[in-house]
This record gives sequence, C-alpha cells and structure tokens, in this order.
Amino acid sequence: MKSSRKKILVTGGAGFLGSHLCERLLRDGHDVLCVDNFFTGSKDNVVHLLGNPRFELMRHDITFPLYVEVDDIYNLACPASPVHYQHDPVQTTKTCVHGTINMLGLAKRVGARIFQASTSEVYGDPEVHPQPEGYVGRVNPIGPRACYDEGKRCAETLFFDYRRQHGLNIRVARIFNTYGPRMHPNDGRVVSNFIVQALKGEPITLFGDGRQTRSFCYVDDMIEAFIRLMRTSDDVTGPVNLGNPAEFTIRALAENVVRLTRSASALEFRPLPEDDPRQRQPDIGLAKALLGWSPSTELEDGLRRTIVYFEALLRERPTCS
Ligand code: NAD
Ligand code: UDP
Ligand code: UDP
Repeated sequence: MKSSRKKILVTGGAGFLGSHLCERLLRDGHDVLCVDNFFTGSKDNVVHLLGNPRFELMRHDITFPLYVEVDDIYNLACPASPVHYQHDPVQTTKTCVHGTINMLGLAKRVGARIFQASTSEVYGDPEVHPQPEGYVGRVNPIGPRACYDEGKRCAETLFFDYRRQHGLNIRVARIFNTYGPRMHPNDGRVVSNFIVQALKGEPITLFGDGRQTRSFCYVDDMIEAFIRLMRTSDDVTGPVNLGNPAEFTIRALAENVVRLTRSASALEFRPLPEDDPRQRQPDIGLAKALLGWSPSTELEDGLRRTIVYFEALLRERPTCS
C-alpha cells in the first residue's frame, strides 16, 4: 500500500542500510533527500538513483546544522562497524550526540517525524538473553567500543528528552546485526569479511574460539521493519528491537560462507577483540505485536544474495579498496 507523497530526509543515505532505504522510499513514491559525508558510505551505493528527479544527494556532515524542509527524517548517519567507528572515536561520539541534536533540532523546527537507527550495542555484553527492550544493558563506558555504544545510548536519551520536553514525534529502532549487498568490503564486519576472504581464497579470520553468537538479519527484512515502524501511530515511540532471532555461532557462519562460495579458504583463529559480546539475539516480540513483522529471509538465502554482490564487486575492483 502506498502512503501519500512526502519529502523524506535520510542521513547516512549513501551507506549500506541508507542506500537500501532511499531505494525503497523512492519506490513508494516519496521525494528523498540523501545526506552523507561519505565517511563510510559512497556515491557508488546511490549512483543508480541519481537520475531519478525525486532523489537528491547532498554532501554534508550532520555534526553541523542543517536547514532543510522535510516531513520525515530517518537518522542513520554514523559509522557502524567497529573498525570504522574506532578509527576516529571522537568524531563517532560527535556524530551520535551533536549530529543527533542537530537532527532533533531540525525535526522540532519543521515538525517532522524522526526515526533513530539505534543498535543492539546499547545492551553491551548482555547478562540477559535474548535481550528484551526493557533490559538496560551492560556497557563499559571507557572501553574501545564506548564511543559508539555510549554515543548511541546518549542519542536515545536525546530522542526521549526531545519528546518529553518538546513533544517530538519519535521512533527508536534498536537494530541487530544486519547484512546484505552494499556492505563496505573492508569495514571489518563479520559477514563482509568472511565473504571477501572466501572469494579471494584468503584465510577466514575467526576471532576467539568462534563460539560467540550473533543473529543476522537480511537487509530487505530490516528496511521493511523501518517503514512499518515509521507508519505506526504517534503514541508509538519504541525503542523496538529489530533483527532476526535465528542465532548462529561465528564459526558456523564461517563454515556456511566457505561452503556457499565453494572456497578452499582455511579457518584462522585470531584473538577476540576487547569487549566483544559473547552472545547476541533479539527478542522481537514487541516488533511482531506492533508491526506484524518478522524477518522472512533465511541466512543461507541472504548469504547467497550477498555473495553474488561481492563476486561482482571483486570482478570490477579486484583489490576491493
Ligand atoms: P554504514 O557505515 O554503511 O552507513 C553509515 C553512513 O553514515 C555512511 O554512509 C557514512 O558515510 C555516513 N556518516 C557517518 N558519519 C556521518 C556524519 N557525521 N554526517 C553524515 N553522514 C555520516 O553503516 P550501516 O550499516 O548502513 O548503518 C546505518 C545505521 O544503522 C548506523 O547509524 C548504524 O549505527 C545503525 N546500525 C546498523 C547495524 C547493522 O548491522 N548494519 C546494526 C545496528 C545499528
Ligand atoms: N538545527 C538544525 N536545523 C534546524 C534547526 C536546528 O540543524 O532546522 C540545529 C541547531 O544548530 C541547534 C540544534 O539543531 O543547535 C538543536 O536545536 P534546538 O532548537 O533544539 O536547540 P537550540 O537552537 O535552542 O540550541
Ligand atoms: N568476527 C570474526 N572475524 C572477523 C570479524 C568479526 O570472528 O573477521 C567476529 C567478532 O569478533 C564478533 C562477530 O564476529 O564476535 C561479529 O562482529 P561484527 O564486527 O560484524 O559485529 P558486532 O561485534 O558489532 O556484532
């Protein structure tokens, strides 16, 4: 069902999730303003949209004020992989805090509905499993992941304070590990790392003993949840967990990728990074009840589609830089 035509701002729109969201919003008939500083995103991700008169791409860093007129805002701008968010941790916190204040200030001025791409990282290394929204988390405030985890926690705080103080219309999604085409080939996230390593015939770098778990959601399922959450009535604020509850060990993921790519790559064990959560699985009971949503893509299908993307990318750019 198509909703009425809106002007929609997507920050971080040239990134992995952002580019899929822009595509979907254009398909639904909206005007899309994609704002990105191209830190981890790329024009390549949206180049196919540039010819669409309803699409506009703006290079801008959200830590600086932005004055535009829009109906809805999806705030996705923020590096998402540990390699990238730890590269310039102060900028990561600035993006989460100053950037979010600017987007909330914009939403307040124009009366826009605003969506925040929060994260399962707000739960830290959890002692409750699976994690429901009511669990307040276990985050190390001074560790190497804190710029992201605490930044995203503060962004949630700001969303709820702008609602309490200024009556803003907010939606907060806690996104669990999501994968698919247009992940950055070198961002160090596990799915892209393993696929690129397998396709290049390089060793598969398994951190720790590989028994830590994650739950992986395919990008199309995630974008559908964003759209449904944004369409809910205004009393719905979240936070809402979004992800795929099917939980796998990282070792099982590695073995699946090797099998599906028919790679000869061997598994190579490396030290577990500091503060790496041992297990993670979303409790999506709230999303199911509220949005009538649950992910439908099996890991194997999603991996196959992602492998096709990286095969093409490696043919075009064999060094994948
Ligand atoms: P991504 O790195 O591909 O996309 C982030 C985009 O934000 C990039 O295009 C980047 O250039 C842009 N950006 C970064 N800082 C910016 C700034 N200051 N101003 C303007 N643009 C900026 O990552 P992604 O996986 O697409 O993640 C999108 C959002 O979803 C992020 O906020 C991330 O924290 C959140 N998220 C993603 C996952 C996941 O598994 N993919 C999980 C949890 C949360
Ligand atoms: N802001 C923005 N675009 C707007 C309106 C505000 O970028 O259209 C920024 C502005 O720079 C401000 C921030 O959002 O610093 C927070 O705005 P708010 O109105 O909440 O606070 P104030 O302007 O009072 O600091
Ligand atoms: N991981 C791994 N090898 C890699 C990259 C990641 O074993 O080359 C592990 C990592 O230690 C973590 C899991 O895979 O336990 C997921 O890592 P990712 O960085 O993708 O996401 P996050 O830790 O933020 O969930």
